[in-house]
Amino acid sequence: MTTIGNDLQGVRERIATACAQAGRDIGSVSLLAVSKTFDAGAVREAYAAGQTAFGENYLQEAVEKIAALRDLPLTWHCIGPIQSNKSRLVAEHFDWAHTVASLRLAQRLSDQRSPALPPLQICLQVNIDGGPNKSGLAPEEVQALALQVARLPRLQLRGLMTIPEPQPDFASALAVHQRSRALFDTVAAAGGGDPGMARFDTLSMGMTGDLEAAILAGSTMVRVGSAIFGGRPPARRPG
Ligand SMILES: *Cc1c(COP(=O)(O)O)cnc(C)c1O
Repeated sequence: MTTIGNDLQGVRERIATACAQAGRDIGSVSLLAVSKTFDAGAVREAYAAGQTAFGENYLQEAVEKIAALRDLPLTWHCIGPIQSNKSRLVAEHFDWAHTVASLRLAQRLSDQRSPALPPLQICLQVNIDGGPNKSGLAPEEVQALALQVARLPRLQLRGLMTIPEPQPDFASALAVHQRSRALFDTVAAAGGGDPGMARFDTLSMGMTGDLEAAILAGSTMVRVGSAIFGGRPPARRPG
């Protein structure tokens, strides 16, 4: 097996162990492989090892990679910031967008999503810990936007996404993730009965450094990059 194949297997084992410790079914947590900065060849290696869902942050890079990999049955998730003048790239090329935090962006994505494609799957990004440099809704804004996004015709609201600041220890990471899970449960309960909320089933949280805490708190999708593909150069500007 390739290094990527081996590392992917290692991440699957971490997820399985975390699920066992949390008393959760392994099928309740999906793995999003974050391939930003890595080339199409790396994605092919991960696909050969059984991975089909990939996350990208930088739109131009992502669109080229998606085109180069058209021959594979992959699902593409936008997990980076979406400037409104780039929303069309997301609407036209991706299956999911995890970083929606305004009605204006949601409306543009819905307007730009072709009727020939399935609805774009949406997570609302929440700034759960008030981190200074992060986009995302304040927790108290989530409920109202969820109900508005749920009504947009070309979008399917799927859940919430968070990127908390790195925490010093497991207990603090767990506590922050538990706040996200509680918010997710509150929004899901309040939307119960609304047809647009029928597939509100995804809590996208946890990365290489904190996936165990995220799974214990109730994440349903972990976004893992460096543990699969290796280290990256320092973060670039969104583009
Ligand atoms: C880069 C990135 C990840 C993956 O981070 P790793 O620490 O490499 O696992 C997950 N989510 C988002 C939003 C990212 O930008």
